[in-house]
Amino acid sequence: MTNARKHLFGPVPSRRFGRSLGVDLTPFKTCTLDCIFCQLGRTTNRTLARQEYVPTAEVEAEIDAWLKDGGKADYITLAGSGEPTLHSRFGEVIRYARERAGMPVALLSNGTLFALPEVREAAQAASVVKLSLSAWDQDSFEHVNRPHPGLNLARMVEGYRAFRREFQGKLWMEVFLIGGTNSVPRDVERIAALVESIAPDEIHLNTAVRPPAEEFAFPVPRREMEALAGLFTPAAKAIAEFPSDKSADVAANEGTILAMLRRRPCTAQQIAGVFGMHPNEVSKYVGKLLRTGKVRAQTTGPDVYYVAGCGRDASREGSTGKRER
Ligand code: SF4
Repeated sequence: MTNARKHLFGPVPSRRFGRSLGVDLTPFKTCTLDCIFCQLGRTTNRTLARQEYVPTAEVEAEIDAWLKDGGKADYITLAGSGEPTLHSRFGEVIRYARERAGMPVALLSNGTLFALPEVREAAQAASVVKLSLSAWDQDSFEHVNRPHPGLNLARMVEGYRAFRREFQGKLWMEVFLIGGTNSVPRDVERIAALVESIAPDEIHLNTAVRPPAEEFAFPVPRREMEALAGLFTPAAKAIAEFPSDKSADVAANEGTILAMLRRRPCTAQQIAGVFGMHPNEVSKYVGKLLRTGKVRAQTTGPDVYYVAGCGRDASREGSTGKRER
């Protein structure tokens, strides 16, 4: 009865949106970022080029066909295989969906193009806009989100503030936390300060509970997420859907600790925080890694950092060393 749909998916149950009909405006995987935690895998087309990636008329015809078939949902949501604001006519799709379906429309965007007035203008048609912010400076932005070289975090955040002033709908901010990368409380406080300056209506904390693009993108345990939520104003909601307490927490072992240290030197305290372990347990694993030569200790000021491997690993990690805190 119904033609196969190329640009719509669902409706799928969503914690934030109830039954949500997804609209996908980009081919897989076209994005301005290549986030280490992306559940879609690595970005194959990292671009800033805004164009009509899929024909707007085709998307609108599919919405009409879905409605004709009796389609019902609580929300229509622009999301999918990449960044929806890369589609040069996404604003028209939002307006069309709202008018034809009479349903609220949510735009789930990484926010990188909100420095552009034309993107902010088009996004105003949405009922809810969710933007992302998981870094506090250009260096951490490049580490966590691996942006297109033409992107600048400060300009992006300025665009968020401008949008907040212009937008009459609900503005939500999503902060994605990765164990040992951007989840240290001091860094979360820096993200929280930026988020507060934007004044969103709601703040959502998420973490890598689904398989991420990179194996070193560890989830933050539920109890730590809940504690970090209190650093935000207004207090954030931890929205990550942990399959269960047991499986959400990464089972710490030599392998997972070594994988983290390969990406970023950490102190024993930081390792304990990431994995929710007792410091004595950290000592046990780190002691074994030291004895077998897989990691070495490096003293920086009052702290002892553990660094993975030999000279090659250490020099590779040197570039992230400036992020140490
Ligand atoms: S912005 Fe979203 S789609 Fe793009 S790489 Fe990051 S998580 Fe994936």
